[in-house]
Amino acid sequence: RVHIVAPMSPASTYSTAGSPVMSSAALHAHRRLLFSASSQSVRRAAVRAPRTRGVRAMATADFDYDVFCIGAGSGGVRAARISSNYGAKVAVCELPFDFISSETAGGVGGTCVLRGCVPKKLMVYASEYNAGFKDSQGFGWSPVSPSHSWTHFMDSKRKELLRLNNAYKNTLKNAKVELIEGAGKVVGPNEVDVNGKVYRAKNIVVAVGGRPTKIGIPGAELCITSDEALELPDAPKKITIIGGGYIGVEFSGIFNRFGCETHTVYRQALPLGGFDGDCRKFLAEQYETSGLHLHPECTPVEVKKQDDGKLTIVIKRKDDSTFEIADNDAVMMATGRAPNTEKLGLESAGVNQGKKGVVIVDEYSRTNVPSIWAVGDVTGRMQLTPVALMEGMALAKTIVLNQPTKPSHEAVASAVFSYPELGTVGLGEEAAMERYKNIDVYTSSYRPMRNTISGNPLRDFMKIIVDADTDKLVGMHMVGATAAEIMQGFAVAVKHGITKSQLDEVVGIHPSSAEELVTMRTATRKIRDGKVQE
Ligand code: FAD
Repeated sequence: RVHIVAPMSPASTYSTAGSPVMSSAALHAHRRLLFSASSQSVRRAAVRAPRTRGVRAMATADFDYDVFCIGAGSGGVRAARISSNYGAKVAVCELPFDFISSETAGGVGGTCVLRGCVPKKLMVYASEYNAGFKDSQGFGWSPVSPSHSWTHFMDSKRKELLRLNNAYKNTLKNAKVELIEGAGKVVGPNEVDVNGKVYRAKNIVVAVGGRPTKIGIPGAELCITSDEALELPDAPKKITIIGGGYIGVEFSGIFNRFGCETHTVYRQALPLGGFDGDCRKFLAEQYETSGLHLHPECTPVEVKKQDDGKLTIVIKRKDDSTFEIADNDAVMMATGRAPNTEKLGLESAGVNQGKKGVVIVDEYSRTNVPSIWAVGDVTGRMQLTPVALMEGMALAKTIVLNQPTKPSHEAVASAVFSYPELGTVGLGEEAAMERYKNIDVYTSSYRPMRNTISGNPLRDFMKIIVDADTDKLVGMHMVGATAAEIMQGFAVAVKHGITKSQLDEVVGIHPSSAEELVTMRTATRKIRDGKVQE
């Protein structure tokens, strides 16, 4: 049993524990009810089973499958597995395996398992030991000169990803989901083509996720993306990362902790656009304290290859002056992702698409074509693994159990695996001010106990935002060690509408960092009608 990144832990992703699985008798009865217009049509279905297509007996008279998922990532696997558990006949198609994604390569497990959450968190773990060796000296340990084998780490990481890839395949097999290897293409409202064979499905679920994109500057072809950053043959000694979103920030922290000279270039004044303003500022300060080179309000102009094979990046400041960062072993673009819909054939079925090709869906994940649904990153709603899982789960209920179920995107907790970590649930202060007339803001910054005698200069920051009219917590944020683990617990309280007075009744766990969240009594500022009260 693996124990990795809750809540996007592969364990939770492929465990069937807790899923409402039916007994086989109930399941058969249920299937008869759901997918057969009449017992006659079932008999006709058996007669017409398309043996020439090499699929199991037809789900109904007209279809090979009740549900056909395109893409076996977080959303597709969850939708497929639960639909099958509920009694539907299900297939999922997925591209052949590779660590680096392309139009022709992917692999069961998808981005999260093969080139996202999991390998990234393994890199976080690998890199964070470095600071630990140094910190231990304050606690009396003798100095050590640790060395790190990149090859050893990469081999272990690849083995683990292959293990997970297999575990996911087994999960599908055990759930009786048919796995078809190849690129799926929609060729009609109920038809999917894979490798030239057309499958007819009552419901098509588009779960193709997305891929990293680069910005179009000269030398972009010399740059890597997050896919390649997780597969570097050697540890870089110097790297420049373009982009201040969560992927750019996480990889900056990882490479910096490995001891690599790391530069982060981004257009805004602070990294992590969309997160709470105080947290963005605080994290930028911690990064600078950690020796990271931040270049805010800067735009990359060009990347050039030097004679010695290293890379120079030319950067433009806000005032149009330029500067160069030379001798990079790698330049990474963390400049966004695009949905894998370019060659998916959605137009042939008349499916409406939005910016960059995202699939437009309603609250039930249904497109404008009633038989076609979409979940996960491809819908551009919230690009997180647990969100894709929730959407897949809700979809299975809607389609198979005929219980229309909306996934809820409110108060979804998430984390940035920076150093220190940022954990967050609910609204940042800026967003809360837009939604609520009056808010109270509680903040606290302190040096965690671990960092006192270790001499580590990093600090923690916590923030609670309360709707002053109802006393309900509308946002909670933490920058500090294990913030992701801590905020997962508090997310339950925020999601279920806890008030500040109820939070104040909770007794803390001492000594811990998390106790600070239940002991903040005096508001740092009160905002009424958009104005900070004196
Ligand atoms: P995916 O997991 O991308 O799956 C889509 C699948 O469809 C892929 O396997 C692909 O190969 C396949 N496919 C594409 N086209 C076709 C086709 N035509 N036919 C057949 N198959 C096809 N989220 C978190 O919650 N926490 C994190 O810490 C986190 N870290 C991340 C770090 C990085 C570097 C990245 C890139 C992402 C991270 N994410 C994280 C986001 C998370 O990985 C995604 O939100 C999640 O994987 C989305 O799941 P999905 O099912 O929508 O798509």
